Amino acid sequence: MNDKNAHPTTNGIDLEFDRDHLWHPYTSMKAPLPVYPVVNADGVYIELETGERLIDGMSSWWSVIHGYNNPSINDAIQQQLSQMSHVMFGGLTHRPAVELAKKLVDMTPKGLDKVFLADSGSVSVEVALKMAIQYQLGKGYKNRNKFITLKHGYHGDTFGAMAVCDPKNSMHSLYDGMLPQNIFVDAPTSKPDQQFDPSDLEPLKQAIELQGSEIAALILEPIVQGAGGMRFYHSEFLAGAKAICDASGILLIADEIATGFGRTGKLFACEHANITPDIMCLGKALTGGYMTLAATLCTDKVAQGISDCDAGVLMHGPTFMGNPLACAAANASLALLQKGEWLQQVTQIEKLMKRELAKAADLNSVQEVRVLGAIGVIEMKKAVDVGEIQKAFVKNGIWVRPFGKLVYIMPQYIITEEQLQFLCTKLIQVLSEQKG
Ligand SMILES: *Cc1c(COP(=O)(O)O)cnc(C)c1O
Repeated sequence: MNDKNAHPTTNGIDLEFDRDHLWHPYTSMKAPLPVYPVVNADGVYIELETGERLIDGMSSWWSVIHGYNNPSINDAIQQQLSQMSHVMFGGLTHRPAVELAKKLVDMTPKGLDKVFLADSGSVSVEVALKMAIQYQLGKGYKNRNKFITLKHGYHGDTFGAMAVCDPKNSMHSLYDGMLPQNIFVDAPTSKPDQQFDPSDLEPLKQAIELQGSEIAALILEPIVQGAGGMRFYHSEFLAGAKAICDASGILLIADEIATGFGRTGKLFACEHANITPDIMCLGKALTGGYMTLAATLCTDKVAQGISDCDAGVLMHGPTFMGNPLACAAANASLALLQKGEWLQQVTQIEKLMKRELAKAADLNSVQEVRVLGAIGVIEMKKAVDVGEIQKAFVKNGIWVRPFGKLVYIMPQYIITEEQLQFLCTKLIQVLSEQKG
């Protein structure tokens, strides 16, 4: 082990054991980057065992929107814990699940009336893909079992989900022969604040003309392509794609796992185009970032189609489906959203980030700065050294985790103007001090 990869040990959290035995996301067991030991998280602060308090710029990957250690979500979980933490969902039901389904039907675009509760975003995508295939079977289409999707997309890490992720980013080459072959079209290039270029829809149109009879559904991330490149695109593309799908019997699956619950400035990104997708996936911020829970919603039409296929049922049922604790957390988080403050918070965050992050555009190392809702992206000309830059961020009191060329923040909705100012200033300061 060379010095660069040597990890500090602290008395409490056994970092040596962590390094030797514990996988972290997308890491090597041979030469893992250092991880920072956290002992506490409260509001927008993450506290390290080594004493630093960091302002969270990541919302723990889009999920913690109301702050860590949120009193009302804490209360809801504690109350649920004293009643029951879990019961199987086969043949049983409970108030937290029913309340959650009511809220989701109520909040999501009109027409999404049927709710499947899943354990993670990736699983909710698997469920959506199954729904689409079973729907087409129910309609008598045995060959409609492929998916069409956009390049630069990200939909999760399980096999079905991975098969609709960008083939390069998710390294499809590693799993040759194991991945179903889907259809990838160029992602739109018109940005939200530009004039829409209708030729953005051509690749999709052409592919569907050619292979439409084999396609069950189009799956995409509405308006913001997240982990596949943090790209923003025009709402008219989304509206146009929906119309093309409708005209050719192809379902539209909107993966709102990252964009859902206010992040883009609308409660759901589909609202930018005023569409109701046939199927919608939700996750990440669903529980306010407290625990894993996801949902796949569909329209009555889709549900009827599924029930008409030979199986007669939707073939999925996770052990921890509808976990009451997770539902209770989600209900409390959604209740906070329903108060409506998120809109003003996200609008303020967008305004401040537009002003402050624009300053990064002056740096030689920066390719482009873009902001949409509570998402701020600084695209660098070259990939950053994550280990090095992470160290500098921590030293400066902020938690930001870039990938590749993308340095981005998606603050919690509750962040104050002062805290956000600090986050943006330190972020740009660190970038300006980077070598190369
Ligand atoms: C994170 C994410 C997923 C996967 O969710 P997990 O909970 O990590 O399985 C799927 N789609 C999108 C758009 C995501 O951002």
